[in-house]
Amino acid sequence: MSSVNTTIQLITREQAEAAQSHIPGQPGRAQESCDEDLAQGPWEFDLAEALAGTPGYGPGASNEDTAPASTPVQGQLPQEYKDASDAELEGRIRAAKAVLGERVVVLGHFYQRDEVVAFADFVGDSFQLANAAKNRSEAEAIVFCGVHFMAETADMLSGSHQSVILPNLAAGCSMADMADLPSVEACWAELEALYGTEPDAEGRVPVIPVTYMNSSAALKAFCGERGGIVCTSSNASTVLDWAFERGQRVLFFPDQHLGRNTAKAMGIPLEAMPLWNPRLPLGGNSQQVMEAAKVVLWQGFCSVHKRFTVAQIEKARADFPGLRVIVHPECPMEVVDAADEAGSTDYILKAIQGAPDGTTFAIGTEINMVNRLAAQYPQHTIFCLDPVICPCSTMYRIHPGYLAWVLEGLVAGEVRNQITVPETTAVNARIALERMLAAKPRSAARA
Ligand code: SF4
Repeated sequence: MSSVNTTIQLITREQAEAAQSHIPGQPGRAQESCDEDLAQGPWEFDLAEALAGTPGYGPGASNEDTAPASTPVQGQLPQEYKDASDAELEGRIRAAKAVLGERVVVLGHFYQRDEVVAFADFVGDSFQLANAAKNRSEAEAIVFCGVHFMAETADMLSGSHQSVILPNLAAGCSMADMADLPSVEACWAELEALYGTEPDAEGRVPVIPVTYMNSSAALKAFCGERGGIVCTSSNASTVLDWAFERGQRVLFFPDQHLGRNTAKAMGIPLEAMPLWNPRLPLGGNSQQVMEAAKVVLWQGFCSVHKRFTVAQIEKARADFPGLRVIVHPECPMEVVDAADEAGSTDYILKAIQGAPDGTTFAIGTEINMVNRLAAQYPQHTIFCLDPVICPCSTMYRIHPGYLAWVLEGLVAGEVRNQITVPETTAVNARIALERMLAAKPRSAARA
């Protein structure tokens, strides 16, 4: 199976040829991409954004999201890396890695393009990769082929002698950017005014802040300072149990869908989960609604997982009777309800590994991961629920050209694009991360 990027380039070329020769595209040629700009090098967007002075997310699923003005803008990649062929970049990356040896470790997120994952020493989700960074203490440099919040977490969990490098600074995460520290602090002040700060008779404080791993280090620190905690998509229900042992209610940010799907599965009614719009007083809710709240959901979402729909599931089931549908819990609630199962990237991987040969899977998560699974497990039929190829636009900003540039920088003794979390922030963020690591599922806690 060709990579997502190769397929996008093919689609774009075919579309251009069809337009030129006035030949309609071939119906039944299964795929289309959501944006023909995906066929370009990401440096085109770095340049456009630098010239316009307005950062964006580039083409892909979060193209339409508004990037905050504070989003880092990547400086220009030297021309030699833009002009290099795939084969030349491959040779340069391999040569730089060979020179650096154990001094460097390259981490690749599941959602990263194949052309980058090919050079990763570890591939995994954000937390697995942060742990991989922690366990490679001999590496002076950790090159994180993922997005900004992941590199921040790796920096906080790795040693002080290690540098964490994000090959393209424009690789943020649109969901993480939907909650910033001033907005969350303003929300917190409103919640304190409403609920007070005193614990109840059982010693439970009015609100516990819970942040998804997909958030800035500043928000993890906010949670650490206020008795709160971090969660991942693998442990969200364990973390909510932990929070409800200590608090009467939870403020969950930034992903409303993970919060809603997890709390609903725990039996919390939807009417006790108001959505918090940071631009409106009381988040756009009445006092009565807020008084009945158990989980206050921040109005954030992932634009990749928002693309999945119930109609896609119905169509896939009609086309493939006996199909097994697994979606990520960042998908909207209706989609999770219509699927057979919902789980993290690790859950999806293990479900595929454990399935009897010949199983047909429709998967609701990022296309690079789904296509890689399809190639790695040919004994199954595996396809993405979304028929349109639309990768995560921020993961897309990492290209082998940037990887070669940062690795050759290291060979020359220069650390490029280092991500550093100030120690004053990291101290409190680590508290929230450590609480997560110490939280045990209810069944384990009883055992
Ligand atoms: S897939 Fe969604 S949550 Fe993950 S990095 Fe991309 S935008 Fe962020």
